Amino acid sequence: MSTFHAFLLTKEDGGPQQLSWTEVSDDDLMDGDVTVAVSHSTVNFKDGLALTGSSPVVRRWPMIPGIDFAGTVEASTHDGIAVGDPVVLNGWGVGETHLGGYAERARVPGGWLVPKPDAFTPAQAMAIGTAGYTAMLCVLALERHGVGPDAGPILVTGASGGVGGVAISLLSGLGYEVVASTGRLDEADYLRSLGAADVMDRAELSEPGRPLGKERWAGAVDSVGSHTLANVLAGTRYGGTVAACGLAQGMDLPGSVAPFILRGVTLAGVDSVMAPKPVRLEAWDRLARDLDLAKLDALTETRPLADAPELGAEILEGKVRGRVVLTV
Ligand code: NDP
Repeated sequence: MSTFHAFLLTKEDGGPQQLSWTEVSDDDLMDGDVTVAVSHSTVNFKDGLALTGSSPVVRRWPMIPGIDFAGTVEASTHDGIAVGDPVVLNGWGVGETHLGGYAERARVPGGWLVPKPDAFTPAQAMAIGTAGYTAMLCVLALERHGVGPDAGPILVTGASGGVGGVAISLLSGLGYEVVASTGRLDEADYLRSLGAADVMDRAELSEPGRPLGKERWAGAVDSVGSHTLANVLAGTRYGGTVAACGLAQGMDLPGSVAPFILRGVTLAGVDSVMAPKPVRLEAWDRLARDLDLAKLDALTETRPLADAPELGAEILEGKVRGRVVLTV
């Protein structure tokens, strides 16, 4: 019987969840036709929710957390996936309902994996991770709705976070004028180094606002939700599009229909978890083409997997800047 090490979340009836670094048997891995030796993972906002138990992200016990991993195929009976292939996994309920990436080994259905693009090392693929791949999905949503670089400024909320940092890097690289909204104004130089033309205080967007405001941006990437998203919509120019992917401020959307019915604004929802394979392949292909690796490296910190519990708490407190790669 083969074993490996993993972080394991357990929960006894009604009690609080416990997290331990423990030895797990291969026999405990869940159904899947590909087994991967995990080399890197990462910390996303959702990983923070799972690690701290502050939101019911985990729906199967015990659970190995970690919604992303990169690694090398150890065993496969999946057509088109061979031993030795470098692969990447994002979402699909991994770390929520299927044993996840904070482990030396993972087993998943091969259809969930994407080939690691040659442009990235496994560490860079995890520097991108779900947050960065979601940022790309948001850029694709703006493009799909006709918001190109000439349309006008694009607002990125949650700018110092993971989705925000990759979104700024991508958009500025594509020639968009980016306005970064942040609560960390001391990070203005960092945000400008990623390509933000302007930096604004998120306090301007955090409180209940008017149904319609001055037309300020042609589009937005919003990872914050709540009053922020309502105000972002109210400040979007005629015919603009807001790609909404997150809830860092809250899950509510306390706004009005005014931006939709008076300015033809589009609210484009973005989900990374269950995005179909062709969409993922397109996003990873575009990341390989459009993401400036020097900027990716500048927004990334590398830490050992052992630090995941403390990083999970920090990301929920808004203390993590950019992205964190975990080495397994
Ligand atoms: P991060 O924690 O890295 O970034 C979130 C940022 O939001 C923070 O850095 C902070 O930026 C800002 N923020 C935090 N709290 C508040 C608040 N109360 N009010 C306003 N702004 C706040 O998380 P990620 O980038 O990994 O994820 C961002 C969001 O996107 C999360 O809600 C996550 O769940 C969601 N998400 C959704 C996905 C999907 O498939 N739809 C996929 C990936 C992420 P600053 O300090 O600059 O203000």
